[in-house]
Amino acid sequence: MRIIVIGGGAAGLMAAIAAKETAADADVVLIEKNDKLGKKIFITGKGRGNLTNAVAIEDFFPQYVTNPRFLYSALYDFTNQDTIELLEAHGCRTKVERGDRVFPVSDHAYSITDALKHSIKKLGVEIRYKTEVKKIELRDGQVRGVVTDRGFLPADAVIVATGGRSYPSTGSTGDGYRFAEEAGLQVTETYPSLVALEVHEPDAYRLKGLSLRNIAIDIRDEDGKSYYRDFGELEFMESGLRGPVIISASAVVTKLVNASDHKKWKLLTVHIDLKPALEDAELDRRLLRDFDTYRNKELRNAFSELLPSQLIPVFTARLAAQGIDINRKVTEVDRETRKKIAGLIRDFSFTIRGTGSFKEAIVTQGGVAVKELNPKTMEAKKVKGLYFAGEVIDVDGYTGGFNMQMAFSTGHLAGKSAAEALNYKY
Ligand SMILES: Cc1cc2nc3c(=O)[nH]c(=O)nc-3n(C[C@H](O)[C@H](O)[C@H](O)COP(=O)(O)OP(=O)(O)OC[C@H]3O[C@@H](n4cnc5c(N)ncnc54)[C@H](O)[C@@H]3O)c2cc1C
Repeated sequence: MRIIVIGGGAAGLMAAIAAKETAADADVVLIEKNDKLGKKIFITGKGRGNLTNAVAIEDFFPQYVTNPRFLYSALYDFTNQDTIELLEAHGCRTKVERGDRVFPVSDHAYSITDALKHSIKKLGVEIRYKTEVKKIELRDGQVRGVVTDRGFLPADAVIVATGGRSYPSTGSTGDGYRFAEEAGLQVTETYPSLVALEVHEPDAYRLKGLSLRNIAIDIRDEDGKSYYRDFGELEFMESGLRGPVIISASAVVTKLVNASDHKKWKLLTVHIDLKPALEDAELDRRLLRDFDTYRNKELRNAFSELLPSQLIPVFTARLAAQGIDINRKVTEVDRETRKKIAGLIRDFSFTIRGTGSFKEAIVTQGGVAVKELNPKTMEAKKVKGLYFAGEVIDVDGYTGGFNMQMAFSTGHLAGKSAAEALNYKY
């Protein structure tokens, strides 16, 4: 009996391990089109590999933006602790950092792949590199094998772990969506997620490279309805925003603008509070103090204590656009003007024009519709022996190790279920 796993990423590697652990006598073949395994793992967590998160497993569910409930069986079947134990057993020691993020002690993502490869080799999984699956052969509602660029390979079960569309340079080019559609399964629209946000305001380019820490963001539509709030760090790009708070916000923005009402695309605004730690009265006192320090200067030159130097010309230009004379002496600034200045500090806003592309997105939103899969096994309901695992499924999470864990958990469940089904059959 043979189980084929398509894709040597986090999900595929784990699926192959679980299949072979469950059915030692099964012929488990892992097919990867690259000349190495885990090309994407290599770049996760800025090359340090944020492999999972250490929070309690029940606290994982709010961290998935799409279809969290579908993951119930998978996450309990193979938890974050199981991931850590497996990696540690194969030589990848782990540590927990800020935000309960788990990394290899080595600070190198390749330690994760090395450990998974070690396990795979020990178990006796066959790996076929530089082999691309072109088609999955089906007959009478049952998987028969795969057609690769090197010929046909028969199989009793096939696990599709081909990833999404993000960072196509790593090999994730969306082939699994085609395989699913050819098998008659519904695939929901795919969009880039955990990605930069592009903005309308041309002054963003003057802030390119500027990083703002300890700021708060609130993403609201023009009716004032709030969709996402966060606190942390963001960075300006030539025509947009990125950095941790923006990347997380993009998961919600992508969903909003693509899900229903396209009109919202134009209306969503990132409101940045530049000084969230200061209460209104404190902020006013702070302004008064700074204006006293700079009492001989013009207003435009009185923000050096409060704001980063790169931000000041853009900030003061926005004040001027509100009709404030930035060339007047600070001693002449009245309470009403101070209120307007405080207002701009509280709400330094940018309207969202779009998101970055798949080329730079951390994950894909959308994919094989969860209603097509049995959540207890990851098998397609319509096709016997056809399983899906990892990012190819319509599930996506926030940053923090939740996407890797989703790939590991669904991969493990698919591999185990495929092997159990064959054990039962033979
Ligand atoms: C820059 C970046 C940083 C990230 N950082 C983190 C992080 O720190 N923590 C976290 O949890 N998540 C992170 N992610 C997301 C996470 O890496 C992915 O969600 C996860 O790796 C998906 O695993 P997968 O196995 O489903 O797919 P992939 O890793 O995409 O693997 C799919 C594999 O299938 C192969 N393949 C595709 N089609 C075929 C075919 N037809 N034939 C043969 N082989 C094929 C591909 O070559 C590839 O190797 C990051 C992603 C990126 C891009």
